[in-house]
Amino acid sequence: MSAHEALDAARANSTAQGLPEIAVSAAQGKFLQLLASSLGARRILEVGTLGGYSTIWLARALPPDGELTTLELSEHHANVASENIAHAGLTDRVHIVLGPAIDSMRSLPPSPPFDFIFIDADKEGYKDYFVEAKRLVRKGGVIIVDNVVRYGRVADPEYTDSRTEGIRAMLESIKGDSEVDATTLGTVGDKGYDGFMYVVRK
Ligand code: SAM
Repeated sequence: MSAHEALDAARANSTAQGLPEIAVSAAQGKFLQLLASSLGARRILEVGTLGGYSTIWLARALPPDGELTTLELSEHHANVASENIAHAGLTDRVHIVLGPAIDSMRSLPPSPPFDFIFIDADKEGYKDYFVEAKRLVRKGGVIIVDNVVRYGRVADPEYTDSRTEGIRAMLESIKGDSEVDATTLGTVGDKGYDGFMYVVRK
């Protein structure tokens, strides 16, 4: 199986089973993988699994004894992800937790901490996910939050939908937060014009 076969198969299987086409792009997946491997990540947490596409990219950055925990609300999405992760040969290092991500995060102990956390679920929950991510990531660890630009809508006061407001609430909460250093990285490509928030835990 080529490196991309499992990723292409994950996308195809997800689409065939009716999942929305809202996974990260291949370029974003590769970026996440490179970042996790540059950090030497051994423990990764993902919030928002969908069909496991970004999960596969991230899990491939782990050493054989590494672990990735991924949180998903939808049982159907989790089942499809489980198939895709098995096809990619990564079942041994990926653990899918079903349920509202905020409950799952709150039930996780802070130790051992995660090296890397990727937040990519319902935008309304981002502020709360961020609080938990800070509690769960190690000092010097990285949190990436997807969709913080949303075609420029986040900076445009005309947009007041709950998703955009959810992102704004998280960004507001980071302002003046002395426990993190953060910046926004624009992402332009297959997924349109958006951005990752790149956060380092101090
Ligand atoms: N990270 C995935 C990828 O790039 O392949 C895409 C994740 S998709 C954008 C968001 C996922 O979050 C969906 O599968 C959705 O069911 C899940 N989700 C939405 N609300 C959630 C919640 N409250 N708790 C956990 N997962 C949730």
